[in-house]
Amino acid sequence: MRILVTGGAGFIGSHLIDRLMAEGHDVICLDNFYTGSKRNIQQWLGHPSFDLIRHDITEPIRLEVDQIYHLACPASPVHYQYNPVKTIKTNVLGTMYMLGLAKRVKARLLLASTSEVYGDPEVHPQPEEYRGNVNPIGIRSCYDEGKRVAETLAFDYHRQNDVEVRVARIFNTYGPRMLENDGRVVSNFVAQALRDKPLTVYGEGSQTRSFCYVSDLVEGLIRLMNGDHVGPVNLGNPGEYTILELAQAVQKFVNPDVPIKFEPLPQDDPRRRQPDITRARTWLGWEPKVPLEEGLPLMIEDFRRRLLAEGAEAAEPSMLS
Ligand code: NAD
Ligand code: UDP
Repeated sequence: MRILVTGGAGFIGSHLIDRLMAEGHDVICLDNFYTGSKRNIQQWLGHPSFDLIRHDITEPIRLEVDQIYHLACPASPVHYQYNPVKTIKTNVLGTMYMLGLAKRVKARLLLASTSEVYGDPEVHPQPEEYRGNVNPIGIRSCYDEGKRVAETLAFDYHRQNDVEVRVARIFNTYGPRMLENDGRVVSNFVAQALRDKPLTVYGEGSQTRSFCYVSDLVEGLIRLMNGDHVGPVNLGNPGEYTILELAQAVQKFVNPDVPIKFEPLPQDDPRRRQPDITRARTWLGWEPKVPLEEGLPLMIEDFRRRLLAEGAEAAEPSMLS
């Protein structure tokens, strides 16, 4: 199959491309390199089944493909809040253009939506039927309302134009290749611990998240794309941790002596989040296999290698060797 991956040079997109290439597909990676990097897809440059297109999805594009994994959108609050108008354009205009492309060439499109559509949830854990508690005018709205509109567009193109769509609601995912200055919590803590810098816990660290290792997530995306269910389907690891517990886990794996520093909680920060994955289990036969205790060391190894290679000047040599 010829498969388009928007946001393919990013964290999840590049792992997905590794899987699709290994399965022998023709893959087109489309990215504007806002948070993605050529380094993530370097191993495929020059491969006869791989094409790279530098393009911004807020502009239309014509391509001939069979499937579209639509992932293009910055995922870290730091990056999506840097230019919120651009973020909402990416989610709304970008998703509309991709659905238009899917309609024209009769391709199936999988939308990478997010657990953020549940906002600060009043139902716990969150099933797909829950409609969420989202602030429409807050600093996270460009992302969470943007993804809610993207879901609406997907379902309207499906009902009105028979476009085959799949909607994944992805919960916090981590793993190798995350940017070390990404601003998301797992990458922040791992980079801070390796550099012997204090771990920045926002608020009291009592808010919770559920962390899914990237290979599990990619498996879920591929099953959803090739299965019969439109969704939405939650994809995440139900293992729920407070942010303080996560900091302590990073301390344990990297350096028990690295201190924890408490900083103010950002506005509208969801207090808790845990996926109900009943749908994914029954519809896709999917559940995560990699617990945090196994996934975290794999990510730490990748960060250690990269920080060493980049000659991380602030790093304590003993921590990196
Ligand atoms: P990422 O920031 O690493 O990847 C996003 C990619 O999209 C980057 O390569 C970036 O350059 C590209 N991009 C951004 N705007 C673009 C535009 N206008 N045109 C073309 N390319 C553009 O993030 P990620 O963690 O890999 O997330 C991928 C997708 O999964 C996103 O849609 C995100 O909303 C969704 N998601 C991720 C998580 C998570 O925990 N990682 C959770 C929920 C949802
Ligand atoms: N967080 C933190 N320290 C950091 C970065 C994030 O305590 O250095 C907290 C953040 O306030 C949130 C949680 O960790 O409660 C997850 O943040 P992230 O940005 O990774 O994802 P999201 O809030 O979008 O789920």
